[in-house]
Amino acid sequence: MTTLAGRTALVTGGSRGIGGAIATRLAADGATVYVHYGSRDAAAKETVAAIEANGGRAVAIKAELGADPGDGVALLWERFDAACAERGEPAELDILVNNVGVTLPGRIGEATVADFDRMMALNTRTPFFVTQQGLRRLRDGGRVVTLSSAVTRLALPDAIAYAMSKAALDVFTVVLAKELGTRGITVNAVSPGWTDTEPNAPVLRDDPGAAAAIAAQAALGRFGQPADVASVVAFLAGPDGAWVTGQVLDASGGMRL
Ligand code: NAP
Repeated sequence: MTTLAGRTALVTGGSRGIGGAIATRLAADGATVYVHYGSRDAAAKETVAAIEANGGRAVAIKAELGADPGDGVALLWERFDAACAERGEPAELDILVNNVGVTLPGRIGEATVADFDRMMALNTRTPFFVTQQGLRRLRDGGRVVTLSSAVTRLALPDAIAYAMSKAALDVFTVVLAKELGTRGITVNAVSPGWTDTEPNAPVLRDDPGAAAAIAAQAALGRFGQPADVASVVAFLAGPDGAWVTGQVLDASGGMRL
């Protein structure tokens, strides 16, 4: 497919999991993809190599996010600028995917200030400032897609702080869509349900009963795969999604309808 030919995308947390599937899909659709990651060099190299082996274009960008206010975000964009310069391309992009995030489960009685702050820093503050600093590099007519979560509507006491950190992104999406519409930029969020990625590996691997019960809560009767979510992001990033903005799209297979 070449729906994204000539486009440039950056995917935060794009080396593995849902972000890895998004990077792979956008590259397969023709975009040059900057694959951001935090620390695992091997996973980033593997994703870039797989994209290239498939005839695509990808570049790994390393920057640990969420720790010190602002530092990781500035480093991410510095490295993006440097990588573009090295390739002889302008430091500009068409598609920004705010995917990076962390889930630290816990009921209100179990939450610690450290865990709460870590989730808010990585899940909420980071996409806000990645987008803020990315805006001058984002071309008119571009796309911002942010990974929220179906937990914002499921009322799961075990994930109260995580749900709060993602609910803020739903509001971010609507408000930013209004501001960026004047530049022809669409801003949307995608909300996966339970998806088969590393953080869920213990449930899928070690607790078949729990995994089956979770799958049964989806109208479509199974766990999501990263590629399921990547397809929805690709729609919003591609020409067919051009008239959709300010929306939060559920990509949970109909979790608890
Ligand atoms: P994941 O597998 O844990 O994501 C891993 C990616 O994020 C890797 O590229 C990793 O880089 C990067 N990363 C993690 N922490 C980082 C940090 N502090 N700084 C920089 N990079 C960091 O996550 P996922 O399960 O695919 O989820 C992706 C997004 O979807 C998240 O926002 C999550 O909240 C949301 N979501 C997931 C599910 C689900 O069931 N999986 C459901 C709803 C929503 P390194 O490998 O180098 O550390």
